[in-house]
Amino acid sequence: MTTHTASSTPLAPAPPGFPACAQVDLGAISANVAALRGHAPTAELMAVVKADAYGHGLVPSARAALRGGATWLGVAQLPEALELRAAGVTAPLLSWLHVPGQDFAPALANDVQLGISTTWALDQAVTAARGTGTTARVHLKVDTGLGRNGAWDADLEAILTSAAALQSEGVLEVVGIFSHFAYADAPQHPTVRAQQERFEGIVEQAARSGIRPSVRHLANSAATLTNPSAHYDLVRPGVAVYGLSPVPDLGSPESFGLREAMRLVSHLSSVKESPAGQGVSYGHVYTTTEQTKLGLVPMGYSDGVPRHASSVGPVQVGGRRYTVAGRVCMDQFVLDLGPDSHAVAGDEAVLFGVGAAGEPTAQDWAAAVDTINYEIVTRVGARVPRVYLGEVEA
Ligand SMILES: *Cc1c(COP(=O)(O)O)cnc(C)c1O
Repeated sequence: MTTHTASSTPLAPAPPGFPACAQVDLGAISANVAALRGHAPTAELMAVVKADAYGHGLVPSARAALRGGATWLGVAQLPEALELRAAGVTAPLLSWLHVPGQDFAPALANDVQLGISTTWALDQAVTAARGTGTTARVHLKVDTGLGRNGAWDADLEAILTSAAALQSEGVLEVVGIFSHFAYADAPQHPTVRAQQERFEGIVEQAARSGIRPSVRHLANSAATLTNPSAHYDLVRPGVAVYGLSPVPDLGSPESFGLREAMRLVSHLSSVKESPAGQGVSYGHVYTTTEQTKLGLVPMGYSDGVPRHASSVGPVQVGGRRYTVAGRVCMDQFVLDLGPDSHAVAGDEAVLFGVGAAGEPTAQDWAAAVDTINYEIVTRVGARVPRVYLGEVEA
């Protein structure tokens, strides 16, 4: 069993027979949610747990978020919401990205609230409500300038008009109205203020149509941490729940009171002596410059290690930082451990973990491969078992 240097809590090793695992610290998720509530004390908090909780594991992460004080959960896809309900999670739950033809009856039967951004989705929600004799509880998703999911212009007017009528009929209840920023990670960007003004205008427009939702929400992680004027009734952080900074140029996780929840660890599969001048891995894009030791890490792009991390991804072995030597393959990559290394097969290799503990971070990987920390944790492959530290049950 390895010990985490930043705390006294022992972390579980990879399960026997698995070359790697993602250790997920559920206590960190709870603590991050509590910290986020501190940043937005006047708002409710919806923990966004879409995409398998950004790769951290849907149900255990959702429960950890609720223990930390989240009052809502948010997912993109309806099957994710139904999986939470099947696991016995009863918190208010919103699902916001749908396709025509999707049957909303299971959503209504399971008390899942629906994000509505199109007239067809409103029609389908109403069909499901009438079919089941229930009321569809919805949040109207408006596009205030992101130019992505959300209703605007004539569609928005049509949705507001229908929703008002359906609400009087009792077949629909508009619980929320929400939108999403294009530049939340650049709080000074002029679109931020413009989107807020547009949002407030739409809330007033809705009120004139007789729709007065109890929760207005606009803030993702970045706006939760950097823009209190956008908190409204509820904030919707995702990436920060998992301890990653949504604004790495403006602040580290620590600076916001957050801690990375996932450690991606493997174990050296072999360590072998290599002569100088040896090409390493496919295409020999790396060549040893001296007699050295090569350590083999049994993780590859199938496990979510970006192939673009070839020659740039940071990995820690025995407290020392190395860089991926040569190409990342499907199942494995190589480290040049240097001639003096005492590393042996079986030693732990940390791809990313807790920055405050001196480990490489998901943010370091993101910077190395020119992407965002969100993608690094979310892409960790299904083949990598998630091992939970902390209370797994509700
Ligand atoms: C993913 C998502 C969020 C969470 O965004 P983060 O940047 O991870 O905090 C919030 N709202 C909507 C609509 C989303 O799609």
